Amino acid sequence: SNGVPDAKNLRVKLVLLGDSGVGKSCIVLRFVRGQFDPTSKVTIGASFLSQTIALQDSTTVKFEIWDTAGQERSCPCQQRLELPLELQKHGSPDIVLALVGNKADLHENREVPVQDGMDYAEKNGMFFIETSAKTADNINQLFEEIAKRLLVRRH
Ligand code: GDP
Ligand code: MG
Repeated sequence: SNGVPDAKNLRVKLVLLGDSGVGKSCIVLRFVRGQFDPTSKVTIGASFLSQTIALQDSTTVKFEIWDTAGQERSCPCQQRLELPLELQKHGSPDIVLALVGNKADLHENREVPVQDGMDYAEKNGMFFIETSAKTADNINQLFEEIAKRLLVRRH
């Protein structure tokens, strides 16, 4: 033990933000249940799920996941871009922000170059990862990386 209370069992809140249809609910379903349902229903309001992961050093991290309905009305681009800055300003100081490019399996429909995602994330103090809820690519890695960064922030 390093003397930090509960260092081995963290409980964290995780909120998914983003436009409707980008795959937030499918990412959560893949992570929590290991499933992909192509006919998944639109999220109404917010739904709650939790999942615990164990890191290599036997630390466990319990994610309490709030899956929001996202912005149904399109908001001005500028407003959207300021969201991470607002979170850093008003949120907890040990917040971890991840920028997720989902649907990475749809190679031929790519809209954002990888480098643009990486640049944007770096400018805004986030890490960038591309996932596919459909193939499960990088889904566990997404949550593991968040957990690792939280541990670094807290100790
Ligand atoms: P949300 O509104 O952000 O929660 O989006 P959903 O999770 O409901 O997903 C919206 C649509 O995208 C659904 O038709 C999903 O089947 C589809 N989808 C979600 N993730 C992926 C993915 O990684 N790859 C592909 N090909 N489709 C996906
Ligand atoms: Mg949803």
